[in-house]
Amino acid sequence: MSTATMPVSDRKIKIGATKLLINNEWVGAESGRTFESIDPTNGEVICHVAEADEADVHKAVKAARAAFEPGSKWRKMSATRRGELLYKLAALIEANIDELAKLESIDNGKPYAVAKAADLPLTIACYKYFAGWADKIHGKTIPIGGPYFCYTRPEPVGVCGQIIPWNFPLLMQAWKLAPALACGNTIILKPAEQTPLTALRIGELIVEAGFPAGVVNILPGFGPTAGAAISGHMDIDKVAFTGSTEVGKLIMEAAAKSNLKRITLELGGKSPNIVFADADLDAAVEGSHFALFFNQGQCCCAGSRLFVEEKVYDEFVAKSVERAKKRTVGDPFDPKTEQGPQVDKAQFDKVMSYIDAGKREGAKLLAGGGRKGEKGFFIEPTVFGDVKDEMKIAQEEIFGPVLSIIKFKDLNDVIQRANKSIYGLAAAVWTRDIGKAHAIANGVRAGTVWVNCYDVFDAAAPFGGFKQSGIGRELGEYGLQQYSEIKTVTIKL
Ligand code: ADP
Repeated sequence: MSTATMPVSDRKIKIGATKLLINNEWVGAESGRTFESIDPTNGEVICHVAEADEADVHKAVKAARAAFEPGSKWRKMSATRRGELLYKLAALIEANIDELAKLESIDNGKPYAVAKAADLPLTIACYKYFAGWADKIHGKTIPIGGPYFCYTRPEPVGVCGQIIPWNFPLLMQAWKLAPALACGNTIILKPAEQTPLTALRIGELIVEAGFPAGVVNILPGFGPTAGAAISGHMDIDKVAFTGSTEVGKLIMEAAAKSNLKRITLELGGKSPNIVFADADLDAAVEGSHFALFFNQGQCCCAGSRLFVEEKVYDEFVAKSVERAKKRTVGDPFDPKTEQGPQVDKAQFDKVMSYIDAGKREGAKLLAGGGRKGEKGFFIEPTVFGDVKDEMKIAQEEIFGPVLSIIKFKDLNDVIQRANKSIYGLAAAVWTRDIGKAHAIANGVRAGTVWVNCYDVFDAAAPFGGFKQSGIGRELGEYGLQQYSEIKTVTIKL
């Protein structure tokens, strides 16, 4: 393990592990290769991290398989003890909350205050929630008749590959690790190449908590190499992925072509956020601003198609633009900052190309539209009005601070248009009319519907997508179920 310190806005930050965690040991990549982790605030190198590829994945799978063998320390461990280890991990994260929030902020670009107030508490809550489940996972006795005693036994799926994105590195790691560990699986987790640092620091805490060797292996590396080696591996039983729909399809294909490993996919979105004229307009303006701009717009469930009823359209747009212009963009370590940089140059360029597409296709640019500053990957909070359903910015996931506002006529019109998308991750409705709220909640094809709120998450509430937004659910009891196989045992009496 190597440690280094570097100044961040006159603060010191400790960089934890930068190698691969395999079998509870920190090792370099077999190839000897490393890659740079970049600070998106200034484009500078934070540190170099070991770069896993296929050879390292094989090594980690061997360790995870050995840890999963019947009779291993992990398999013999009581379910209650598994829960205790998860509680211990949650406590260690809590004890290091400040350091982890700083590391998350510097690696990802999100404001430090937001990481500390949102990402970290949700991460800790997720580990605690699934810790509680560990010894409450049990089967049923089934009255099949005849001289038989029949029961079910949930068993861990086995060795799980987990591939996570860069937008919520700590939280996505918790969503993956916590339920898998509660159920007794072993894991090879690949953090995103843009943000490996907090995942590795959690690896140190996992070892400190006392998880047996091989139960959690953490392999930073790139998608087409390390990621593909996981999804196509013949001895990995399941792959859980969060990321783009495009890569989700590759994962599903690789799973099918290799050993038909189980898959859960949490993919992209273009979520409709619907404001009716009867809504509390100020709350809807603020909520819709948050729905899109939170986390630099880098949320799979961002409310990126903002439908506003025509009766209040002009008033709403004016207020929305005013709010976007007030948004504070800058140093993630300044407590006043609401928005930091985009995660990297590639994402920056992609978002800027969508802004160009919006202008080209005739949407009305009402705020922002440009780069902010000269260093780093900052983008002005951008608002387009008069957006039409068929425009690129209304159809494709931008994953940046670009709000598209669309006018609608009435309930039926908006349900039908909201559903005209390949995605179905989330939706929201702002109204005082309970009938309209239910009509949207029932009529829109999405995995989550928020009414008069947005981005309300809890470890107990399932999350996932309809249509091309994914397969399966994470969090809650439904999320837990994706990490067990059900065995039916029938005994002749
Ligand atoms: P984004 O476009 O938001 O960066 P991606 O879907 O490309 O999202 O990445 C999410 C995760 O998937 C990252 O950990 C990335 O390394 C990984 N990944 C990318 N390509 C592949 C691939 N071909 N196979 C497996 N994993 C991949």
